[in-house]
Amino acid sequence: MSRIVHVNGAYLPEAEASVSIFDRGLLFADAVYEVTAVIDGGLVDFDAHQRRLRRSLAELGIAFDPEAADLRGIHRELIARNNLSEGLIYLQVSRGSADRSFVQPAQATPTVMLFTQAQALVDNPEAARGLRVITRPDLRWHRRDIKTTQLLYPSMMKSLAVAEGVDDVWMLEAGTVTEGSSSNAHIITRDGRLVTRALSNDILHGITRAAVLDYAREAALAVEERAFTPAEVMAAEEAFITSATAFVSPVVEIDGTPIGSGCPGPAVARLRSLYIAESRARLSR
Ligand code: PMP
Repeated sequence: MSRIVHVNGAYLPEAEASVSIFDRGLLFADAVYEVTAVIDGGLVDFDAHQRRLRRSLAELGIAFDPEAADLRGIHRELIARNNLSEGLIYLQVSRGSADRSFVQPAQATPTVMLFTQAQALVDNPEAARGLRVITRPDLRWHRRDIKTTQLLYPSMMKSLAVAEGVDDVWMLEAGTVTEGSSSNAHIITRDGRLVTRALSNDILHGITRAAVLDYAREAALAVEERAFTPAEVMAAEEAFITSATAFVSPVVEIDGTPIGSGCPGPAVARLRSLYIAESRARLSR
């Protein structure tokens, strides 16, 4: 079934939507993006995604005002036009089109594009069985806090994991885990503490990570924000990832070693239920 997508102010059938071959998003990955989950036809954590978008745009000096463009209204319209009950909305803003030059154009009109993707998020089989990960060096640039479309290395790592018969790569830098190919990485220690890398330019400041840490603290779970090693993952009681579409999903094996019981555990199951319940209670429609 053909979707209705949004490009630069127009709603179009997907086959009729296009962007210029000179778009700097295509030529230089000079673009930022957001992925917002939709459940029950409502948007999860919409305001937090918009705040991060504004920050990414500011860091790259792309002059685009999400409020003036009424991105919230466009999200709602896409949900309605595509009758989307569960899935995601992808939003990308590039610096715009210009003759190819490494010098960023002083005047360019940002290219804005959004599309929906229907997908089961709540009843996700991966969350039920648990994910298996392998570790690889983190060879990305050092501004991972900016959500750019420069995703070649994470895509290579995810593909490598799948080719090796596992689910994902957890990337390592200076002996500690940075994050997954498209998720934040966390462990629950044997004494029940949630350990997650602190925010810095080393990782994307995950919207799901922030929400889960809030809900965990409200539920009186001890949270420690610091880097952890693969050895700590192997010795952990449980491990998990967070992302807008995976929500909270258990990780049950790293580099062939089972984590805890080697099956999805109760602490992560509780955090997943808590996250889904809190998100449902706060949907933006
Ligand atoms: N880290 C990376 C590298 C990611 O690509 C993503 C998801 N795009 C995340 C973390 C999770 O962020 P969020 O919870 O905002 O989806």
